Amino acid sequence: MTLTEKILARASGKARVQAGENVWVNVDVLMTHDVCGPGTIGVFKREFGKEARVWDARKVVIIPDHYIFTADSMSNRNVDILRDFAREQGLPYFYDVIDDPNGHWQFDASQGQHKAQYGSRYTGVCHTTLPWKGHTRPGEILFGTDSHTCMAGAFNQFATGIGNTDAGFILGTGKLLIKVPETMRFYMEGAMQPGVMAKDVILHVIGDIGFDGATYRAMQWEGAGVYGMSMDDRMTIANMAIEAGGKNAMFPCDQKTLDYVNERTKENGTKSEFEPVELEKEQSFVYDKVFDLSKLEPTVACHPDPGQRKLAKEMGNVQLDRAYIGSCTGGKTSDFLAFAEVVRGKTVKIDTFGVPATTKVVRELKDTQWGGQSVWSILESAGVRMTENASCAACLGGPVDTFGRLNTPMKCISATNRNFPGRMGNKESQVFLASPYTVAASALTGRITDPREFVS
Ligand code: SF4
Repeated sequence: MTLTEKILARASGKARVQAGENVWVNVDVLMTHDVCGPGTIGVFKREFGKEARVWDARKVVIIPDHYIFTADSMSNRNVDILRDFAREQGLPYFYDVIDDPNGHWQFDASQGQHKAQYGSRYTGVCHTTLPWKGHTRPGEILFGTDSHTCMAGAFNQFATGIGNTDAGFILGTGKLLIKVPETMRFYMEGAMQPGVMAKDVILHVIGDIGFDGATYRAMQWEGAGVYGMSMDDRMTIANMAIEAGGKNAMFPCDQKTLDYVNERTKENGTKSEFEPVELEKEQSFVYDKVFDLSKLEPTVACHPDPGQRKLAKEMGNVQLDRAYIGSCTGGKTSDFLAFAEVVRGKTVKIDTFGVPATTKVVRELKDTQWGGQSVWSILESAGVRMTENASCAACLGGPVDTFGRLNTPMKCISATNRNFPGRMGNKESQVFLASPYTVAASALTGRITDPREFVS
């Protein structure tokens, strides 16, 4: 069996499963956020009754992160609905925007977007929060009401996005009926060259198979090249499985995975027992291809979908209006450090926005010193408009006052993961997806730029 099949077999109490089979699985974690949480709660109450209790309060994780720092009253209200539900159900893993469990969230636009407006429990983007707070564990099943839930596949976890109806059902039962996906194997050899990042790897692969090339399939990553990658690199790759239509991403579990997970579960007092799934000799794949990481170059996905692959070096004639770094895919500390490496001591030529994925990233960028200056201040000195309000922000557009939103037609190069028309706001805009290195180099020149001009 493949890694995905092994997890689904275990979760459904069977010795074996095969692709195409429908199985009932027991859920280890259900995650929801401010956009889909209220709908999920509505389904749960309608189907299980007003007085119903969730199947297991310790397995429900609620993370407000999408439309948070906006004066839009309906968005603010969504956070209040989550708070009421978490209080009613006694949910320990609700990462509220404010500290008062009986309070109301209201963004104060008069304070601007720069300074933090959140309490001590707020974390930021859900997919980056889940591993940080010790909710991603090898061998387990995670469902989330968000398509990029597949990011947790980096941790040898079966993780996928579901709709509000399925999530409401899980809240009441802890189970879900799921079709076992076929598995595609991506076998990585070699190592990435300077100037090339994990984002280039996944953009290359999606360019190869197309933005629907993995529809309802597991994308399993193997090979020495994968073991050489950091957990952040694996997260970037797993995150974008859905951009090829993938059901889930799946990485093997190694010492790096164990060290990461053990540290986070211990730090946060979350469940620390888990059982990874190991690679078997006998696996059946619907696609199997070897990639040489050393041959990859800085890559860009052009408008209007993540499969429109080109090399950054071929695109120097594309003039840009904006650069953006942020999101679950591209707003991790390592992403900002790569970005800062390029812009340090220089000045960006176009409007450039930086949105850390989590409040931990904000802290780390402020605490990391390079030559007596914090990375945060290096970024600001280069002209990057940074916000302390970690969230999804303009990754998915959001209300018109969202930080970094494309409110008029423009060309934007972005470290995010999705570029369908209108994704970051205006429907006439064009979004080019690229690595933090490429976004930084392009911000300096005002046109799409191969970062190897700046990174040796
Ligand atoms: S940062 Fe973007 S991709 Fe990630 S969860 Fe938020 S909206 Fe979705």
